Amino acid sequence: MTETMYCYRHPKRETRVSCATCGRPICTECMVATDVGIKCPDDARLPRGARAGVMKSGQVLRSVLTGLGVAVAGIPIAYVLLLLPLTWLISAAAGYGAGTLINRAGGRNGGPVAIVISVVATAVPFLVLLAPDLLSSILQPRPLIAMVFAVIAAGVANRQI
Ligand SMILES: [Zn+2]
Ligand SMILES: [Zn+2]
Repeated sequence: MTETMYCYRHPKRETRVSCATCGRPICTECMVATDVGIKCPDDARLPRGARAGVMKSGQVLRSVLTGLGVAVAGIPIAYVLLLLPLTWLISAAAGYGAGTLINRAGGRNGGPVAIVISVVATAVPFLVLLAPDLLSSILQPRPLIAMVFAVIAAGVANRQI
């Protein structure tokens, strides 16, 4: 018989997972996969000495550099995306991927700084492609919609857990 546990951060949410360090039950949304097993967000962050949503300057720098890479690499990717069907869906996936990359570069802290970097980095490739033709893209909003989806997904990837 398995004992029913409830996430210590979401008392109404049932879970079977508990933190490898402190043993508190955590739901799938709260759990953080680390090299040494599943941990609660508190313990997953402790070794890095970082508080939730607060990045050290080195992590901010890495996030910005990754964001620059995403912005540059994203130009050809966005170009291809805009030619594909279901552009908005693929753009959202690409944006989420970009946001995740930046999130990892920042030590997975997420938070406002990471969101801003991700959103800008994701929007740049689309803006570069759309800028020469911005007027017609307002009449033909498909690329703009794709950009909005990509940008939102990039931001979501960096939400604070
Ligand atoms: Zn813990
Ligand atoms: Zn939870």
